[in-house]
Amino acid sequence: MRITDLINKNERTAFSFEILPPLKGTGIEKLYKDIESLKEFDPKYINITTHRSEYVYTDLGNGVFQRNRQRRRPGTVAVAAAIQNKYNITTVPHILCSGFTREETEYVLLDLQFLGITDLLVLRGDKAKHESSFIPEENGYAHAIELQEQINSFNQGIFVDGSEMKVTNTPFSYGVACYPEKHEESPNIDQDIYWLKKKVEAGAEYAVTQLFYDNQKYFEFVEKVRQVGINIPIIPGIKPFKKASQLSMIPKTFKVDLPDDLTKAALACKDDNEAKQVGVEWCINQCRELMQHGVPSIHFYSIGAIDSIREVAKAIY
Ligand code: FAD
Repeated sequence: MRITDLINKNERTAFSFEILPPLKGTGIEKLYKDIESLKEFDPKYINITTHRSEYVYTDLGNGVFQRNRQRRRPGTVAVAAAIQNKYNITTVPHILCSGFTREETEYVLLDLQFLGITDLLVLRGDKAKHESSFIPEENGYAHAIELQEQINSFNQGIFVDGSEMKVTNTPFSYGVACYPEKHEESPNIDQDIYWLKKKVEAGAEYAVTQLFYDNQKYFEFVEKVRQVGINIPIIPGIKPFKKASQLSMIPKTFKVDLPDDLTKAALACKDDNEAKQVGVEWCINQCRELMQHGVPSIHFYSIGAIDSIREVAKAIY
């Protein structure tokens, strides 16, 4: 079922979360345990991230290093299928420009079609760790909107080489990313919203926000996008603050501000257990306020935060 149908038919704010495929070689059991600890809160859908390949350097001795390309977290499609089959919960694999050629994307779409997975989150993807700015693959894409166009053609039964499918199937529907505090590469928020509108016109049915800790920024963003005629659901992406080191890590990694009150409360904690509790309380208040404003769904970023999300979900659902 489409994500917009899933959240619209829910009378209260829907619960959903994002998980990462396991690190290569670590098995899927821990992931199942995480899902089981959040299952009682009735997740309407679960997103599965995708991670491009990276260069890894192996020390061969004598000062010689061998450079290999590998994916640390492969398996998005398989994990999505495994979860959907095991728990009968809709899964939303992320599909990226970053690190993928058009043909590779086509094979991913075919695999998903055979597996009956039709909801996607369409993203450009992060730059590679060794790059200072995003570089598309040769025969890949520079922006999410180009990937949307490939999916739209696929939905109409056209492959990337222009040939036609003999059999078409249930079309893919998809959401995209958005940034209440603007994307790091955008010169200003209006430019970022301009491109968001283009993504909506190209077929995005909803948008999920980058994480944020100040609801005011989300409310102002929603107001701005409505003013330019963007009427799709803007789903807040939320992650409980967890530990002191995140005071610098979160702004640096996600390019978002941490509010003064949260920062002061975290700095006053004597250890990370206390900081975690501060984060849970902050998150509960954030979610309650978002719910009062009638947001259709709250989407939790779960990496390293499953236990905190459980506490938050217990309080709000
Ligand atoms: P785009 O829509 O391409 O936008 C990138 C920048 O270019 C923006 O500044 C935008 O304003 C501008 N822009 C957009 N279109 C155009 C255009 N046609 N011409 C010129 N400028 C344009 N990363 C991963 O690697 N894996 C994941 O699984 C993943 N999941 C995510 C989930 C969510 C909910 C979010 C918010 C982010 C996620 N990311 C993930 C990170 C994301 O890939 C990065 O933030 C990336 O830098 C931008 O992706 P995008 O889809 O917003 O890109």
